[in-house]
Amino acid sequence: MRCLLLSDIHSNLEAFQAVLDDAGQVDQVWCLGDVVGYGPDPNACVKLLRSLSPTCIAGNHDWATLGKLDLQDFNPDARDANLWNRQQLTPDNLAYVEALPQVAVEGQFTLAHGSPRHPIWEYIIYTSTARASFEHFHTPYCLVGHTHTPTIFRLTPETEVSGSICEQIALDDGRLVKLGPERLIINPGSVGQPRDGDSRASYVILNMEDMTIEHRRVPYPIEETQAKMMSHDLPLRLVLRLKYGW
Ligand code: ZN
Repeated sequence: MRCLLLSDIHSNLEAFQAVLDDAGQVDQVWCLGDVVGYGPDPNACVKLLRSLSPTCIAGNHDWATLGKLDLQDFNPDARDANLWNRQQLTPDNLAYVEALPQVAVEGQFTLAHGSPRHPIWEYIIYTSTARASFEHFHTPYCLVGHTHTPTIFRLTPETEVSGSICEQIALDDGRLVKLGPERLIINPGSVGQPRDGDSRASYVILNMEDMTIEHRRVPYPIEETQAKMMSHDLPLRLVLRLKYGW
């Protein structure tokens, strides 16, 4: 079974479509939240996602469009774009976002947007946070998004002389990682607003047959997304950052 792992689409239809085209045939789609916010196509992205019958969880931007989070907690650009996204969403698509759970479990995988400890808001950037996060899920593996940066955290098994150690592993383009007995937290990066200095959409293919994950990057017509954002008067800083992957 091939499973497509997506996160942080952020209303970027061109990036989302490019990922689907590049991924080819998949059996399941798991989406790690932040379907909307920032970008110019909230309805089209929710519609396309729904057509894939995914397992999807909520992110902080999804909650913000529902008024479940105080927009004062967002920076001004994110706040303006989120407010605009909220105004665009149809009642039907808002109801879909409203129904998204905070956490989901699929076989050996726990899905949480930020972290399994605080699914909506916590960022797993450092090994210290990752180390603490391993205490808060019971499956071998956890899938997160939120930082928009592809990466893996690995917990080494405890030995008689030392406790377990949490290490960070780079998740480079094209890298194939075999899932073994060690517990992992895996972040596939962001489809619609990568922040690791690479502007290409980021995603992961999970192959259940040989238990591997493959990280992939795919270019998309960024200028088209940027032109739409400009036409809707979305914040210039958000328009420009797509080009830099930051
Ligand atoms: Zn996000």
